[in-house]
Amino acid sequence: MMRGSCLCGGVVFEADPPLRDVIACHCSQCRKTSGHYWAATSVPHERFRLIRDTTLAWYDSSPSARRGFCRGCGASLFWQPAGEARISFAPGALDGPTELAMAEHIFTEDAGDYYAPEGPPPSKVQAPERVRASCLCGACAFTLPRPIGGVGACHCNQCRKLSGHYTASFDAPEDQVEWQSRTTIAEFVTPGGGQRGFCTSCGSSLYFRNASGDFSVEAGAVDGPTGTSLDSHIFVANKGDYYRITDGLPQLQGWD
Ligand SMILES: [Zn+2]
Ligand SMILES: [Zn+2]
Ligand SMILES: [Zn+2]
Repeated sequence: MMRGSCLCGGVVFEADPPLRDVIACHCSQCRKTSGHYWAATSVPHERFRLIRDTTLAWYDSSPSARRGFCRGCGASLFWQPAGEARISFAPGALDGPTELAMAEHIFTEDAGDYYAPEGPPPSKVQAPERVRASCLCGACAFTLPRPIGGVGACHCNQCRKLSGHYTASFDAPEDQVEWQSRTTIAEFVTPGGGQRGFCTSCGSSLYFRNASGDFSVEAGAVDGPTGTSLDSHIFVANKGDYYRITDGLPQLQGWD
C-alpha cells in the first residue's frame, strides 16, 4: 500500500500497487497548475482510497477532465478524466520510495521556452520587457519585468509535495509586480516561514516569498516566452526516485 498527502496534510490518500509508471505532461494546463510541468501515476478506482479530503477541491479544467488540489496548501494532486475508471495522481505526493519509473513525456510541443522535456535547455528566445503570468482559471494575473536571472529547479520535499513533481522558478522584485486581478489568491505559510501563493479556484501555483521576503515566480505561470532558461537544480538529495535529471546542468545537494 502506498500513502500520499499534500503538504499541509488536509488531503491524504492510499493506493494499492501496482501503480502505472509515470507520465510527464507538458501541456499548458499542467504547466500552470504545477508551476513547471506535471507528472502522474495512475490506478483503477478500486485500488484508490481517499483517507482525508478536508481541503480537497476540484477544478473542471475541461469538459472531459477535472483536477484535484488542496485548498489549504495549493498542492496539485489529482487528475480525473470523465468516464474512466482510473484516477491519476502526482508521484510527488507519495511518501517514501515510489519504485516507479518515468515512462514518457507527452505534449512536449507545449513545453516552456526555459527548458526542454529531455536534454539540455534550448537557447534563449526573445521575450517582452514585461511578462505576464496567470493561473489556469484566469482569476489571478499579474505582470512583472522579464526574468533577469535564470530559472532554478528545486527538488526539496516541500516543492515536490506542492507541485506534484518538482518546481522551477525565477527571482523577481516584488515591488515591480503589477497585479491585474487577485481575487482568488491565498498564501500558504510553509513550515520554514515562507509564503506560497496559489489560486484557490483552480489550484495553480504562482509565487513563493521566503521568510526573508525574497520573491520568486513559478516559471510555468508565465504566458508566452520567459526569455530565460533553466540553469541549476537544488536539493537533488531529496529528489524523487522515479526520474533522472538529464539536462547536464549543475546539481546541488542542498542550497549550494
Ligand atoms: Zn494541503
Ligand atoms: Zn485560478
Ligand atoms: Zn524547494
